[in-house]
Amino acid sequence: MEREILEFDVVFVGAGPANLSGALHLTRLIKTHNEAVVKGERDGKPLGEIEIAVIEKGATLGAHILSGAVMDPKGLKELMPDFIEQGAPLEAPVKEDYFLYLTQKRAIRSPLTPPPLKNHGYYIVSLNRLTAWLGEKCEEAGVNVFPEFPGADVLYDEADRVTGVRTGDKGIDKEGKRKPNYEPGVDLHAKVTVLGEGPRGSLAKQLIQRLNLNEGREPQVYSIGVKELWELPDDRYPAGRVTHTLGFPSDAHTYGGGWIYGMQNRILNIGYVTGLDYQDPLLDPHAEFQRYKQHPFLAKLLDGGKMIRYGAKTIVAGGYFAMPRLYADGLLLVGDCAGFLNSQRLKGIHAAMKSGMLAAEAIFAALVAGDYSAQQLKKYEQLVNESWIIPELRKVRNFHAAFQHGRWLGLANAGLQFVTGGRAWGLFDRTKSEAGHRAMKKLSAFGYRGDKKGEERGDITEQRYTDLRFDGKLTFNKLTDVYHAAVGHDEDQPAHLHVLDLNICATRCVEEYGNPCQRFCPAAVYEMVDDVASANNNDGRPEGNDGDMSAAGTKRRLQINFSNCVHCKTCDIMDPYQIINWVTPEGGGGPDYKGM
Ligand SMILES: Cc1cc2nc3c(=O)[nH]c(=O)nc-3n(C[C@H](O)[C@H](O)[C@H](O)COP(=O)(O)OP(=O)(O)OC[C@H]3O[C@@H](n4cnc5c(N)ncnc54)[C@H](O)[C@@H]3O)c2cc1C
Repeated sequence: MEREILEFDVVFVGAGPANLSGALHLTRLIKTHNEAVVKGERDGKPLGEIEIAVIEKGATLGAHILSGAVMDPKGLKELMPDFIEQGAPLEAPVKEDYFLYLTQKRAIRSPLTPPPLKNHGYYIVSLNRLTAWLGEKCEEAGVNVFPEFPGADVLYDEADRVTGVRTGDKGIDKEGKRKPNYEPGVDLHAKVTVLGEGPRGSLAKQLIQRLNLNEGREPQVYSIGVKELWELPDDRYPAGRVTHTLGFPSDAHTYGGGWIYGMQNRILNIGYVTGLDYQDPLLDPHAEFQRYKQHPFLAKLLDGGKMIRYGAKTIVAGGYFAMPRLYADGLLLVGDCAGFLNSQRLKGIHAAMKSGMLAAEAIFAALVAGDYSAQQLKKYEQLVNESWIIPELRKVRNFHAAFQHGRWLGLANAGLQFVTGGRAWGLFDRTKSEAGHRAMKKLSAFGYRGDKKGEERGDITEQRYTDLRFDGKLTFNKLTDVYHAAVGHDEDQPAHLHVLDLNICATRCVEEYGNPCQRFCPAAVYEMVDDVASANNNDGRPEGNDGDMSAAGTKRRLQINFSNCVHCKTCDIMDPYQIINWVTPEGGGGPDYKGM
């Protein structure tokens, strides 16, 4: 098939803070260089017209961006020292910081806010808005910005050098056939391709494996943040107030914590983070968040308010030892894609921006040298090592891994780090860690009634969440929440969630884990349903696959409601058999996180 080829010098994949900062900074470096050469103030030749593209899978810039967010402005200040005068959309400077420990019924205020959670001098922002604004700045500077353009494949030459990306096809129906509006994806050729896809990038995942960029590194681990915006009836929680909580509802073996940020116009921004290395297969991060709101402190705060927005997204948490190699021939990795988030502070925006800027500096040097090899682009890693990113991450290099041993030992280690400069337990430079899905234990380890057949299975989650009901006022089921994420996907397209072996879902997974995809997905994408076709013995299953049976004696199968997907990537990360592969859907599909 003939595909259109577009030639660029640099293609940035993903319009997040990392890549947008990178693209913007690069335009300035080039402009300054060209002007200086023309004036005779710098040796060398002008670089001429350098074509820079940023592609984004969301319908608009920021549509798929979800964050807390309290932003350390360090990165933005370096990118744009006059960001306030330039109209950066900031909600409020942080004015108050609280840290609470929640027991089942009480909220105990810590007299001291732990230093990593002190946010004086920082800003509460909607990262959705900040990203859209950064995108405008890029366009003004001459960057080609393409929303609705998902990077579907990385392009390589015969020597495995990265030569660009192929964008996704449009107009394919659910059977895989071309519709009248069919448009093949475009090959975007580039001297340098920068992956800034955020956590668990679908291209980065394949590429890191193919080019072995994680050799000798710890496996990357993640958390998931589930969030709602609420409109409050009065000024009970002012803009600029920041509260972080620990304790309820997480048990001591599960990494978790909550946030409550005051935004403008009486909007309350609340969310709960659950480590995606939890043990209990019945745990449901969305349900954890709903329980969080049931705590008397939260319930009182939200009383009389109205939930207006919902979203969920994963957070990269492995830190320093889990960072992949940051470069290859024709390629750089930036932002969360490279694992630059400081999980102790739950902050990654500043480092994402800085990494984008450092990538721009390395690309600029490569353009001047006319050399896009790994050897040349290695300069980026050197710049990252010399910047403030690495000292910040090294200080907390064992933070998340220590929570493998439970909350209290994790916290003890977090305290010790201050004295030891980041060593684990004051001794070890590097704690070994495991990919999060390996932590999940089987149903039998918890004594759940996982061996029961039939409709009882549908209630299995209730064995953990005995007291959770969705009242539509304070607590919401997943479908109601997903409605508030404004998700849209054309339903007549192939599912972008590839389950590589459906047989496992209907057999082993039922018995061993009780189909945890139904719970770890915060958007009700995965659902075990009665397989009506199987009632006629006509379900096309392999011989001998009895599968799970409902009470009515019907086999059950996994149904994938992909149009609900909020692009959080939890399924790709947490599936215990690692048979779910998240790929990009048709461009423009997904959530619309306005104001989040
Ligand atoms: C719940 C939550 C709370 C957080 N709280 C804070 C906080 O309070 N403070 C803080 O500093 N940080 C916080 N973070 C982290 C912060 O949001 C990230 O570190 C930061 O957004 C990373 O920027 P990025 O550009 O690397 O990636 P992202 O912001 O994830 O942007 C990536 C972009 O790439 C797009 N994309 C992905 N794949 C493709 C593809 N194949 N083709 C085209 N486009 C693609 C995505 O749609 C997205 O727009 C939080 C994160 C979460 C999830």
